[in-house]
Amino acid sequence: MNKLLYIANWKMNKNFEESELFLDKFLSNINIKNDIEVVICPSFLTLAKFDTISRYKNASKLSFGAQNVSDQKYGAFTGDISVEMLKDVKPNYCIVGHSERRQLYSESDSQINKKIKLLIEFGITPILCVGESLVQRENNEGKLLISNQLSACLKNIDTNLIIIAYEPIWAIGTGQSATVEDISEMNSTIKKQMNKLGYKDDQFYILYGGSVNIDNAKVLKTAESINGFLIGGASLDADNFLELIKR
Ligand code: PEP
Repeated sequence: MNKLLYIANWKMNKNFEESELFLDKFLSNINIKNDIEVVICPSFLTLAKFDTISRYKNASKLSFGAQNVSDQKYGAFTGDISVEMLKDVKPNYCIVGHSERRQLYSESDSQINKKIKLLIEFGITPILCVGESLVQRENNEGKLLISNQLSACLKNIDTNLIIIAYEPIWAIGTGQSATVEDISEMNSTIKKQMNKLGYKDDQFYILYGGSVNIDNAKVLKTAESINGFLIGGASLDADNFLELIKR
């Protein structure tokens, strides 16, 4: 893959005014290389408003993504957002299977599989998160678990492009990122499994996520087969996020 992706997962942070302040600052200082794409994943509400603001919509090198989508097309699912609703605001990407959704809302691989199918049907590129817990890591179960998550989440799916984000649960928001060796090893497992599932190397990106910050980004970027980062906490401040990308 010939570009690097920096995906900001804002989670449940920033109202519209705060999001707008971030983007004004970010865009006035942005000076990044051609082979870099920055993706901002704000709340659904902010995402919808950004779509109508042309200075954001047309900013080159900046794309938008949603943080989740329903696994159902329509109906009695109070509080959910369907893929058709999402399509109205034309995000380029949508995160699915984040460990917070798996843990706090008990989302299963089969629900994630349905979400990916719907996203592909509607032309939105899925960002599929996979990752092991600390206990699974300590029991040496990480590789098998992630291979199984990929098989289940991608069952009967045929697409030219999908983003896989390796996000070890023990590294998310803890300040303790995985090492270059950890990431390289897991990326090789992910690559092998993706090839086994029929994906050619140019049909998927592999990102790393989990306590990426301005101090470790440069080193983590040297991991094998890495195509970028999914970034939570360190993406919330415009200057900090720009500095991280610069490094
Ligand atoms: C995330 O939640 O996707 C994430 C990577 O968070 P953080 O960067 O804060 O660890």
